[in-house]
Amino acid sequence: MRRVADRLVIAGVGLIGGSLGLALRARDAVGEVIGFGRSASNLRIALRRGLIDRAERDPVRAARDADLVLVAVPVQAIAPVIGALAPNLPASAIVTDAGSVKGPVVAAAARILGAGAGRFCGSHPIAGTELSGARAARVHLLEGQRCVLTPTASTAPLTRRRVRTFWEAAGMRVEEMAPAAHDRIFALVSHLPHVAAYALVNAVADADKGRGRRALAYAAGGFKDWTRIASSSPEMWRDICLANRTELLRALERFASAYDRLRHAIELGDGEAIAAELDRAQAIRRRLGAPAARRAVRVTSRRRARGA
Ligand code: NAD
Repeated sequence: MRRVADRLVIAGVGLIGGSLGLALRARDAVGEVIGFGRSASNLRIALRRGLIDRAERDPVRAARDADLVLVAVPVQAIAPVIGALAPNLPASAIVTDAGSVKGPVVAAAARILGAGAGRFCGSHPIAGTELSGARAARVHLLEGQRCVLTPTASTAPLTRRRVRTFWEAAGMRVEEMAPAAHDRIFALVSHLPHVAAYALVNAVADADKGRGRRALAYAAGGFKDWTRIASSSPEMWRDICLANRTELLRALERFASAYDRLRHAIELGDGEAIAAELDRAQAIRRRLGAPAARRAVRVTSRRRARGA
């Protein structure tokens, strides 16, 4: 495969940064991969697992001679990390990020890079799990999944092309979107369900307080399926809540009105209204199909059953 970078810096070698490093190295699509991070123990794991070739905690040493930088740290840390690396990068180096919120990140990157803003293009790889850190990185995590790029008027055409090729080299399907559209959509389909899952776990734990027989001890499929994402990194989700506050509050309002409709129908004992709400949601949900990770497991087990 053609090289997408001679010297790639991955700032934040966790689930996303580490999986990207693994995928590009496995496909021989990069020269040297330098991991830049704050935790020495995480970088040691990244080196041991072959996610990166070299680990650096000093931004000057990390940025020197880099031609591409991926910033894959929690959203609120993205701008400070770009700020630490930027003065030490060659003028031609291209910068992207993996943050789950785009509007404020893209605006901050443009401010920090100033005259060099054309070298930045925001990205959001739509893949992940509830696990975090270098230990959680997986070579196939990004493969076949979508990656949303959020170029703006100041993004140089060359930057746009190189960032697209970069994610495609890891097997991703790339599309572009305006940062504001991105933040509205992902507030609804990603940020809202995470916040709701965290709140649901706390609601049941609150109800359990002071009780002898605890409801949580009986949590099974339904509860565990819905709340799996509540075991995600609190640091990462705190940052997403803060950075996408306006759109997340709008999404929570939407949720509250749908919830109130159903609650009202239950209060009234109105079976027809309850069924209408449930029928509508069931039809929509069935059209969505299974999550990508489960689809992959199903394909693998079908192959295994066929002896392939
Ligand atoms: P992670 O916790 O697995 O990895 C983040 C890494 O960044 C860690 O290794 C941490 O040590 C390092 N880090 C944190 N603050 C730092 C700092 N100030 N300087 C240097 N290193 C720092 O998280 P992740 O799941 O890989 O997420 C990384 C980014 O990708 C986040 O912005 C997140 O919003 C986004 N994202 C996550 C997912 C997901 O499902 N996990 C999916 C798509 C995008």
